[in-house]
Amino acid sequence: MTADLQQPAAGLSGEAWTRRYSSAVMNTFGTPQRVLVRGEGCYVWDADGTRYLDLLGGIAVNVLGHAHPFLTSAVTAQLATLGHVSNFFATAPQVALAERILELLDAPAGSRVFFTNSGAEANEGAFKLARRTGRSGMVAAEGAFHGRTMGALALTHKPAYREPFEPLPGDVVHVPFGDVAALGSAVGPRTAAVVLEPVQGEAGVRPAPAGYLAAAREITSAAGALLVLDEVQTGVGRTGRWFAHQHPHLGADAAGTGPVVVPDVVTLAKGLGGGIPVGAVVGLGERAGSLLGPGQHGTTFGGNPVAAAAALATLHVIERDGLLENARTVGARIRSGVEGLGHPLVTGTRGEGLLVAVQLGAPVAAATANALLQAGFVVNAVGPDALRLAPPLILTAEQADTFVAALPAALDAAAAAL
Ligand code: PLP
Repeated sequence: MTADLQQPAAGLSGEAWTRRYSSAVMNTFGTPQRVLVRGEGCYVWDADGTRYLDLLGGIAVNVLGHAHPFLTSAVTAQLATLGHVSNFFATAPQVALAERILELLDAPAGSRVFFTNSGAEANEGAFKLARRTGRSGMVAAEGAFHGRTMGALALTHKPAYREPFEPLPGDVVHVPFGDVAALGSAVGPRTAAVVLEPVQGEAGVRPAPAGYLAAAREITSAAGALLVLDEVQTGVGRTGRWFAHQHPHLGADAAGTGPVVVPDVVTLAKGLGGGIPVGAVVGLGERAGSLLGPGQHGTTFGGNPVAAAAALATLHVIERDGLLENARTVGARIRSGVEGLGHPLVTGTRGEGLLVAVQLGAPVAAATANALLQAGFVVNAVGPDALRLAPPLILTAEQADTFVAALPAALDAAAAAL
């Protein structure tokens, strides 16, 4: 066992690990594509020694890539100093991280942060916070994904995820994403909150139409309801701004000229800790910042000093190394490179920054992702006919170009198997 812990790959093939996985780990994720043993920068290696360019980044998590020295040393130093305390005590990293998040959100006075360990927990917290308005109605969008806990699942739209677990927490309705009139009719005096992703990630990387979030802000404000933006996948630099709703065309009016929307609540996780589990519910302004009172919510691990140190280090490197700009330029390069291929199976690209979908004209996403894996690239089939890329924000133009160059052969292989 000790040898396993120190040298997980020693002597065992990927196939042998997969057999052990299947008999010891619950089958919620299907058979793993590979067993990964090591990472460095934008690359990972499997148990058989094969290297892959990681264009998925743990699904929008590893914003600094793998084994980033600054993150590694921040986590190591914090663990060697003070690894965990109960919530009867505060720690410096926790306070500094809350302040930094509020600063990056340009949060108004009275704003406050609650730390969690995951995106689902962040949305669960937002759900509870919304119920503290004294209203119960929740409005979410068709196609939405907000996580797998019961409350987050109630906000999630996909029937296959929801139905095996019904009854879910009630009083949630779903409206077509991007339809202002439908949102307007669904929101009323009983509505506690509207919950939206600025770019729907799991639905296939679908940005909100220009002006939609601004309209949602107007509709919720007029009804006295909260506007909750789920930035679990889109936050922390992923889209080329700290938060996706800060893009003028996403978080302002349809012309992209109005003031950027100020939501009541923002939920975060994924990229925040650069790979260490940490999430946050941010209540913006006096009202949302104080709806959850003493004893009304809690967590043992949320925002523990190691997680908070990891997040502070991640945010520091993103700023120090100009990774917002890098996400914008490399993301745009991937999209124009893919579109410029003129491959008959590619019908377009979507996304913001380094959250990119390649739309295919046939249901060959899984076969293409598999062919890319064989060729040394990790991507994800986010739907039957769409590939998703959410790579580390440190991805270089040269690395991006290797993917663009490899894509036609993978598409051809997938098409041949049709
Ligand atoms: N919200 C969004 C927008 C997500 O994309 C995800 C995960 O994919 C979640 C919430 C759930 O996060 P977690 O898997 O950390 O619970």
